[in-house]
Amino acid sequence: MIQQEMLTYQQLDGELNRIERDLRKNENFVRRRQYKAASQECEETISKLDARAQDLKNQLAQAQQTVRRITEVIDEHTREIGTLEDVDELNYMNKKLNEQLSELNAVEKEIKRIIREGDEIAKAFEETSAKLPRLVAGYNKCNEEFNKATAEVKPRVNEIRAQQSELRKSIDDNLFNIYKKVADGGLSPVFVPLEGGTRCGGCRMEMPKAIVDAQFAGKNYMRCEHCGRIIFKQE
Ligand SMILES: [Zn+2]
Repeated sequence: MIQQEMLTYQQLDGELNRIERDLRKNENFVRRRQYKAASQECEETISKLDARAQDLKNQLAQAQQTVRRITEVIDEHTREIGTLEDVDELNYMNKKLNEQLSELNAVEKEIKRIIREGDEIAKAFEETSAKLPRLVAGYNKCNEEFNKATAEVKPRVNEIRAQQSELRKSIDDNLFNIYKKVADGGLSPVFVPLEGGTRCGGCRMEMPKAIVDAQFAGKNYMRCEHCGRIIFKQE
């Protein structure tokens, strides 16, 4: 027979698990998580928009520099044209001037594109930022409600913990270690009674009687091969 204190401890763990499960199913817990995910998404969008805006700013600065450079060349060409009398030279300089003008045209188009994209980003930024306060308020409200739900079960949780630490003093270390190891693996309850002489009280699998008898020889518990729980004989 497994120590009664161990079984009571396990029963209390079961209650703690149920309390925790209920809290996780709590509507405010679920919605709080959704609000959090949504605001994180907003913040990520904002930081992406920020990066894109910075990128556009750099592009704009570069385009403006190109405009300045072309304007200088155009001024230079214009001055030169004023001093020329030879028709061939004039034609040649006109051609060069036209090249610069068409380059200037292209850069101006590029600047318009940058400004248009900048406007789109500003709009997206505004829309995304406008969502944030509602999400934050929603999160805070759910958080507050969920904290209330947590506070409600807190006295019972504390009571259970106090009871468990009292019980722990009487539980055999070896037994407790086995319990912890199996429980940490996610099984609950860990200790289950042998049912009908050949059945695991946890997973309900039937075992050959010869194996059960052999396993119990010299000790008061056995490990279920199917579910890994510890099966004990009830007296
Ligand atoms: Zn089992």
